Amino acid sequence: MTSQPIVRRDGHTHTHFCYHGSGDHAELYVNRAAELGFGTYSLTEHPPLPEELTSRIPNGQALIDELAMPMERLDDYLRMAEELKTKYSDRIKLLVGLEVDYIPGMEAWTKELLDRCGSRLEDGVLSVHFLPGRGGWRCVDYTADDFKEGLVDYYGSVERVYQAYYEAVEQSIEADLGPYKPKRLGHLTLIHKYKDAVTPADPDCCNDAILRILDKAQAKGMELDVNLAGLFQPLCKEVYPPEWILREAVKRGIPLVYGSDSHSPAHVGRGYDVFERLMAKVQAD
Ligand SMILES: [Zn+2]
Ligand SMILES: [Zn+2]
Repeated sequence: MTSQPIVRRDGHTHTHFCYHGSGDHAELYVNRAAELGFGTYSLTEHPPLPEELTSRIPNGQALIDELAMPMERLDDYLRMAEELKTKYSDRIKLLVGLEVDYIPGMEAWTKELLDRCGSRLEDGVLSVHFLPGRGGWRCVDYTADDFKEGLVDYYGSVERVYQAYYEAVEQSIEADLGPYKPKRLGHLTLIHKYKDAVTPADPDCCNDAILRILDKAQAKGMELDVNLAGLFQPLCKEVYPPEWILREAVKRGIPLVYGSDSHSPAHVGRGYDVFERLMAKVQAD
């Protein structure tokens, strides 16, 4: 029996333009991916963030500085990615991309950013990392203490934080971000990152919201990032998103794309075996 060879693809990775990563050059990541037999690899760095957001993050300049590159670096990033793409074209297919933040209320700023560089983008992830919280905007995946103090205490319960997050994800699908809007939803359940550090949430608290998100993603022809980073987070140990959601996505014909979300070359391809097993399971039903 012959079967179509599957091209290994990593659709979500970072580079030395990420200031909360290892600092290693993107080329080291790409080399690692080629060594591991990946055929397609997306560079999806965090683009700059609006001043309107960064000026209202209360937990310090150190965090703000490491969130994303400044605007004047964006062109350097894109050029670096384009040069690597050419240099490695006979070894691996690189896609130039970004992991774009959906920030509720800042759609116009985000659309303008995408209008400016979108014609150079070949792939992209759309993620929610920020929610309104105590004292301004809070990063949902910074630290467990920050999550508790800035979000859980502010919203009153873990369930309410989850609900606010999924509401933002739902809005991200509907938002008009122009023709270059990324079509893959990043780490759909990132809000579970510190789940083992807080009072366990009612496991069904957001099922309706999640199913609605999947229906809308299907209607808009979007894809899902199957992000393995969560599995290696000590307070999460769960793929973003978990199996039941992947099963629902398969039912709706939503394409699922593996993402290592590498912030260091050593993380490229991490958990790909788990991804393959999961895919075999959810597609067999
Ligand atoms: Zn992310
Ligand atoms: Zn990422």
